[in-house]
Amino acid sequence: MNATDDKTIVQDYFNSTGFDRWRRIYGDGEVNKVQRDIREGHKQTVDTVLSWLTFDGNLSKLSICDAGCGVGSLSIPLAQAGAKVYASDISEKMVGEAKERAEAVLANTDNVTFAVQDLEGLSGRYHTVICLDVLIHYPQDKAAEMIAHLTSLAESRLILSFAPHTFALCLLKKIGSFFPGPSKATRAYLHREADVVEILETCGFSVQRSAMTRTRFYFSRILEATRK
Ligand code: SAH
Repeated sequence: MNATDDKTIVQDYFNSTGFDRWRRIYGDGEVNKVQRDIREGHKQTVDTVLSWLTFDGNLSKLSICDAGCGVGSLSIPLAQAGAKVYASDISEKMVGEAKERAEAVLANTDNVTFAVQDLEGLSGRYHTVICLDVLIHYPQDKAAEMIAHLTSLAESRLILSFAPHTFALCLLKKIGSFFPGPSKATRAYLHREADVVEILETCGFSVQRSAMTRTRFYFSRILEATRK
């Protein structure tokens, strides 16, 4: 399977069964136990990133690109905190949901722009580029290109999260919970932290802060890298 096929499968998934599943997981309605665990894990990842950015105290001055924004779980609180956010996702359904959620909770949506866009198609420059839980859809040999592209958009900083290879066995056992039923064709790719750090270094970035979110069914390594 080549990368374009992979991407089309991911896009189709997040416009159909994946949309229904992840909209619920990234929401606050009733879900099953596994989904609740994933919801809590993902929330911890988002909260960690928000706490880093809030700690710095300059959020309202930042332009932020949220690449693969999903339903806006990070973009919306960032816009609420006054950051100028450009949020995009390959799935028009996810973007549609993100827009609706933003309109429901934000007094004014001037701070956030949503677009349906493949992250390879992104251009422009942002103070900070953030890409959470998207690398799981990228095979290792596509990761370097993807990360390099994101660094080219970042004036100062890139924040990335990925499913670390260390937990491969655990995760593989549970992969059915990530992509159940007919969507099993969607692959989940794990990445070695050392590889990701090396790619960042090659692009002129060095890791400043890192964190790990680990619940029963959710694993995410978060790295903040800044331009050297
Ligand atoms: N970052 C969000 C969503 C994570 S779910 C959050 O943490 O809440 C993964 C998202 O990545 C999905 O919405 C999917 O549509 C998107 N995605 C996958 N491959 C992509 C690509 N090549 N370009 C843009 N978005 C992509």
